[in-house]
This record gives sequence, C-alpha cells and structure tokens, in this order.
Amino acid sequence: MNILILGSGGREHSLAWAVKQNPKCDRLIVAPGNAGIADIAECADINILDGDAVATFAEENAISFVIIGPEAPLAAGVADRLRAAGLLVFGPSQAAAQLEASKSFTKAICDAAGAPTAAYAHFTDGDAARTYIRAQGAPIVVKADGLAAGKGVIVAMTEAEALAAIDDMFDGSFGDAGAEVVIEEFMEGEEASFFVLCDGKTILPVGTAQDHKRAYDGDTGPNTGGMGAYSPAPVMTDAVTQKALDEIIRPTMDEMTKRGTPFQGVLFVGLMIKDGQPRLVEYNVRFGDPECQCLMMRLGGQILDLLEACARGRLSDVAVNWADDHALSVVMAAKGYPGAYEKGTVIKGLDALPENSFNMVFHAGTAEKHGQIVAIGGRVLNITARGATLAEAHKNAYAMAQAVDWEQGFYRSDIGWRAL
Ligand code: ATP
Repeated sequence: MNILILGSGGREHSLAWAVKQNPKCDRLIVAPGNAGIADIAECADINILDGDAVATFAEENAISFVIIGPEAPLAAGVADRLRAAGLLVFGPSQAAAQLEASKSFTKAICDAAGAPTAAYAHFTDGDAARTYIRAQGAPIVVKADGLAAGKGVIVAMTEAEALAAIDDMFDGSFGDAGAEVVIEEFMEGEEASFFVLCDGKTILPVGTAQDHKRAYDGDTGPNTGGMGAYSPAPVMTDAVTQKALDEIIRPTMDEMTKRGTPFQGVLFVGLMIKDGQPRLVEYNVRFGDPECQCLMMRLGGQILDLLEACARGRLSDVAVNWADDHALSVVMAAKGYPGAYEKGTVIKGLDALPENSFNMVFHAGTAEKHGQIVAIGGRVLNITARGATLAEAHKNAYAMAQAVDWEQGFYRSDIGWRAL
C-alpha cells in the first residue's frame, strides 16, 4: 500500500514512524514533512491546503491511502476533495470538522445531544457580551468562535480581564475567528484528553493522555501548543472513560450522523473531570501534538490497520492490541518560544541517541542544512520514551533530552508531575 501523510510536525513524524512498522506499508510519502521524517519516508513539498494539488499528487504517485494530520486541511475540505477523487482518506469531512473549527457549532451539538459541558452564551455584539459578563461575574471563559491556534481562549479570573478580552476580540485582534464569541462557565477539575476513532457507526478508543500547556516548570509561564505529554492519563479511570463514551461521545456522534454529517476520523475529546464526572471542554478532529507521539509509541504498527479500518467504515472488525505500558514525551523548544526565537541554530548529539520501539526523537520544527540538523520552528523536538511504568518512561525520556547538544533550546523538567 502506498501511503501519503499530510503534515510536518512531531505528530506526523510519529504517525509515519508507526505506520512504517506495518508490513502493509510499501511506499510512504509525507507532505511537506521535516528533517526527521526525511530519515524514514519520502518528503514532498506540496501545499496541503490545496485539495486539487494533493489529489493530483496522490494520483501521480499511485497513493492508495491518505492520512490527514493537522486540522487546517480538514477545515479547508481537503478530505472531501480527495474522497471525490476516489481516494481512501483518514480524516473528517469539512462539515464534520466544524466540531473543531467552530465552538458555537460544538455547543449547539452538545445541547442537541444532551452532552455535559460548560453553560454558555453566544454573541456577535460586544455590548451584549459585556452585559452578560457583568451579570455572570468571574471566573469566566471567553472564546473566539473560530480556529485561533489555541490563542483564542481567555480563562478570565476577574471581570476586568473578561471585559478586556471582549474588547480585543471585537476590535479584530483575532480576525474572523473573533467575529463571534462564546462565553462559558468556568469549569473546575482535572483535564485529560481522550482519543477515539469513529467511522460514523463504531467508536474505538485508542488512548488517553494529559499534556502540559504552559511554557515553564510548575505549569507557569505563557500558554504554548504543548510542552510535553504522557499516556495513559490516570484520571481516566474505567468509570470516567465509560461515562465519557456514553454521555458525551456516543450522543455527539449520533447527532452528527442524524444531521447527515457523520464523523469519520479521530475525535480528540478534551475533558474536565471533577468528582468522577467528565464534562466536555472541547473537541478537536485530529490527534493532539504532542499527545499523538505518546499514543503512537504505545500502539506501534497496528495503527495503520486501525486507521484503514476507520477510513473504510469497518471499525467494528478491528480491536486494539493493548500493552500495559506508558509513554512520555518532552518537547524541546527554541529559547524564547512561544514568543520570538532564533531560527537556524544547529542541534547536535541526535545521532548518538537510541531509536527503537522504546526510545524515539520525533522531529517538529527541524530542517537539514549542509548535513546538519537546524531548528526552524518554536517547538523543535519531541523526546519520547515508553516504559513498563510512567517513572521508567520519564527517566528514559529525560536521559535522552540531556544528551541533546543544543544551547539555544530549552525544555521543562517536570513533564508528568501530576501522575508521578
Ligand atoms: P487548544 O485546541 O489549543 O486546546 P482551543 O483554542 O481549542 O485550544 P479550548 O481547548 O476550548 O481552546 O480551551 C483551551 C484551554 O482553556 C483548555 O484546555 C482549558 O484549560 C481552558 N478552558 C477552556 N474552557 C474552559 C472552561 N469552560 N472552564 C475552565 N477552563 C477552560
């Protein structure tokens, strides 16, 4: 089987790494890829937001299966375009991708499905939003409706902060994403991510994880795309998992099917758990990054069979072969991230690190220049290890991180603290 994976982050490196272990994988192309991916697959420089370009490339290269990594091509309808060309695709339609692309859409679906989530109101007018905030008081959460790369959410601990967020959103700071605003009740509890494959009928759990969004140790500093993750999440007990499936995920999937827009792909379910009760924080319609790196380390080559069954609408024919193991991923980022950082700095010491089914360095923002690996992004490497216990995975991941010779990089030293 010739496979095309769309994306260029650590998520896609880990997907490529796992897919490649499956003997069914013949040729593997990743577009656009990165320096780490180039070690294990062909990289192709195509515009992955352009459905026509991807379809043409797939036809020219006899691709039989396309796996879409990030949300942007999904929200742009690339999966629909590829399916229309007769290709087998893993990833939801543009209509189903609204579960991530529009917060007010998700809230309306939750209402219809009776799924527990924060109480909310939806505004297109600044004055009405301000009146609502004054009536509700703080803490309260203000969200731009559309995709804002994780930066469109303000968890306001004071009323003044919430009102300032409304000013920002209605003065255009968030572009079109801020033209509509959702204001939510502040939920207390512990957060976890639950990943399930759905083919429109069957729901198959493929793992749980927790991540660390803040830049610095002790969960301090600015919000980032994620500085590390571990899987499984201890807070996702069997009882919590079952409640999430029965009360949130199954009713949502049924509602999507009822509306004529069945969801096919991976649903990333962000949950807030308090006293054993999960409530929905958000849906994403792709794997999390860096959560995916932990899941792929634990699932290995079987992921190709699972993704293919999902794309074919045959999830009921497959099961996950679980090992009782743990994985942990530490993000190495360029100093300054998530603010301004230097590009083009050289990373050394990677060749000496082990690369096997227990230890992997997944690349995110890297490129190869004159035979050297250089950093070209904010989040640059995902140092990932698997172990019989979380403590073992933690020890191995940090041993690798310490061996990387990159003066302009930094990483958190406390990934997994909550569970260790
Ligand atoms: P991302 O996809 O990067 O996680 P996003 O822009 O889709 O971000 P959300 O996941 O909805 O935004 O919110 C980001 C974070 O804000 C959540 O992970 C959670 O920590 C916090 N948050 C969001 N909604 C609430 C809420 N109602 N109560 C408490 N915290 C919340």
